[in-house]
Amino acid sequence: MTAFDTVLTAGLRWLYDTEQPDDAWQGHHGLLLPLPAANRLYAFVAANDWGDAVVVVDVAKIEWIDNGPNELQTPANPLEPDELDVLAGELRALGVEVARTWNGHPQTTGSVGLARPAHTSLLAAVERYHAGCRVHPKRFVFCDCADWQAGFTRIVRPELAPTAP
Ligand SMILES: [Zn+2]
Repeated sequence: MTAFDTVLTAGLRWLYDTEQPDDAWQGHHGLLLPLPAANRLYAFVAANDWGDAVVVVDVAKIEWIDNGPNELQTPANPLEPDELDVLAGELRALGVEVARTWNGHPQTTGSVGLARPAHTSLLAAVERYHAGCRVHPKRFVFCDCADWQAGFTRIVRPELAPTAP
């Protein structure tokens, strides 16, 4: 299995097959799995604003072209023209139905929306996140108390994933 497949398999297993504890919460950035050899960062998002599971690919380290004063910089190393299609194809090969893709080349980020909703326990953890800190309701999701932070660490992650920020 390639490193790319390892990342996708681990991410999909997390989205669909991992039971999350009922005292954990999951933020909207999702599970982040880096693929340093390819300069990519993959995010597995349980639910976007429409409730869909999404796989996002980002260029991990963007190199910018200086287009001169008063001109916007443009990325020198965006996603490849066919990169989102390749990612969608790979996800289909792993048995996941793809609903649609957006962004991608010439940008440095691209998304693949998946047809199947994430595991119900993961979606419940996302709902608990949106409900905010239970101890300090006025601070919503922005609380930094130990009780609120602990909920993120209780999310079950694959071995190869970095811990939550
Ligand atoms: Zn709090």
